[in-house]
Amino acid sequence: MAGNWKMYKTPVETTQFFEKFGPLVANSSHCEIVICPPFIDLAAAVAAAKNSPVRVGAQNIAWAKEGAFTGEISGPMLNAVGVTHAIIGHSERRQYFGETDETVLKRTQAALEFGITPIVCVGELLQDRESGNTANILTGQFQKGIAGLSEQQFAKIVIAYEPVWAIGTGKTATPEIAADAHRTIRGQVREKFGKDAADSIRILYGGSVKPDNAKTLMAQPEIDGVLVGGAALDAVSFASIVNF
Ligand code: PEP
Repeated sequence: MAGNWKMYKTPVETTQFFEKFGPLVANSSHCEIVICPPFIDLAAAVAAAKNSPVRVGAQNIAWAKEGAFTGEISGPMLNAVGVTHAIIGHSERRQYFGETDETVLKRTQAALEFGITPIVCVGELLQDRESGNTANILTGQFQKGIAGLSEQQFAKIVIAYEPVWAIGTGKTATPEIAADAHRTIRGQVREKFGKDAADSIRILYGGSVKPDNAKTLMAQPEIDGVLVGGAALDAVSFASIVNF
């Protein structure tokens, strides 16, 4: 169960969130919980999550270890503050900041090199869905991106299916639509990496997940977890999703 805070909250607000959230998920041993705040909040989040089951993730990671890459944050830097996960290829990065399947692959490889679990996002635009192109888009994102990993690398990643039309819009994919897309992605994984990889890869659904729809989404066997934006900003709301 992963929360993406996008560009919200200061370090002080981060500490306040964890003070409230920690006790609400102290016994939630049925799942892994990851919160991905802005870079500026990571140290505060790691400190506040100490002695709790909650892990802290970044919202991106550089493909290089260090160098002339203004505005980027590298794997060793994330290691140094205790970050365990990184969201890669979020649709907002793809839409507004030129992220491509090729850079997604490079960032994913860098995360793995530094022991950080990548949460790699894929998903179609509204026009792709309306024109019946969803499977093609998901297949293309897979083949041009994470299909370039080795089998050993692939075993360590998490995929998030996030239909772009459902992100921040209040329009959740129905559980059936989400499960169908997950089957497409899992089918690609099976073709490229084999049955065991397809059975064990964790695919999260993301797109307007809220406390009142988490349970029906999670009831789909294809859906292994959720990536939550807006509803992860509030401790009570995200805890109720975690404890669906
Ligand atoms: C997201 O940011 O990954 C997301 C799914 O956002 P929201 O839950 O607000 O749609």
